[in-house]
Amino acid sequence: MKIFIPGFTDMGKSNPRIAILSGKGGTGKTLVSVNLSAVSDDAAYVDCDVEEPNGHIFLKPEWTERMTVSTKLPLVDRDLCTGCRKCIDFCRFNALAYIAKRVVVFENVCHSCGGCSLVCPENAISEYDNPIGEIMSGWSGETKVYSGITDIGVESGVPVIRQLLEEVRKEKGTVILDCPPGSSCSVMESIKDSDYCILVAEPSLFGAHNLRMVHHLAMTMGKSFGAILNKCGVDEDPSERYCIENNIRIIGRIPFDMELGRLNSNGIVAVRENEGYAAMFKEIFAALISEVNCETASDT
Ligand code: SF4
Ligand code: SF4
Repeated sequence: MKIFIPGFTDMGKSNPRIAILSGKGGTGKTLVSVNLSAVSDDAAYVDCDVEEPNGHIFLKPEWTERMTVSTKLPLVDRDLCTGCRKCIDFCRFNALAYIAKRVVVFENVCHSCGGCSLVCPENAISEYDNPIGEIMSGWSGETKVYSGITDIGVESGVPVIRQLLEEVRKEKGTVILDCPPGSSCSVMESIKDSDYCILVAEPSLFGAHNLRMVHHLAMTMGKSFGAILNKCGVDEDPSERYCIENNIRIIGRIPFDMELGRLNSNGIVAVRENEGYAAMFKEIFAALISEVNCETASDT
């Protein structure tokens, strides 16, 4: 069931990061990410959707490592503070205010830049660790799995994604990044170091609209990209038309298929259950790697 691409390391980057994205949830991003990871002989799966991770539901990994993710928050020593307000003038996020003769920190809007502690002439500001989430790694059969989760009430998952991707740096093989849906900051953080983006799209006008969003994001960030069309049927596909009109290479087509939908909705990795789906995803993976090799080879 595993796949090896001969000559891959000679032709392109040996450990490409491939980001899988879509303009909204439910398009098939995790279906594609999980099944491509599972048919590869060396790919690690990384769930960057840290506000709502779901890759583990399919891969059911046994976690072997866990790490708390924290950000730094400022702590003001009232005995040292002279009330000069230099820290408040410095903070571009309005996370500090001088109220009732003391500096007040609005933790929810602090971006943990550390600047206020640097500019304080009295060294009155220190920093403390503020836990905001967790990252995990482990194995699902022969597939290495990474995932992160942001604590409830935390404004942004970006620091968790950043830490998660730091951990993934040690991976030697292909890395499949299952990105958050949409085109927000967390998606930008997930794809910023990627070598190639796969845009997953559905066959509807709304699907084409969402495809356009992630297409523009990939272009804005200077990424190479191709598309995988999901739920393909016999009717005209507005997403396919969008790809053709915008010269987006279509890497693969996944058919509208009740059995695939049943496996997926039951949290089953389709390629581990059905040889036909394994063959289909192997073919898509081979086409993807060939495309990534061309792109990364032409970049060097
Ligand atoms: S760490 Fe940065 S964002 Fe937070 S309060 Fe200080 S200056 Fe503002
Ligand atoms: S810069 Fe330092 S001394 Fe000045 S108000 Fe801020 S904490 Fe107080």
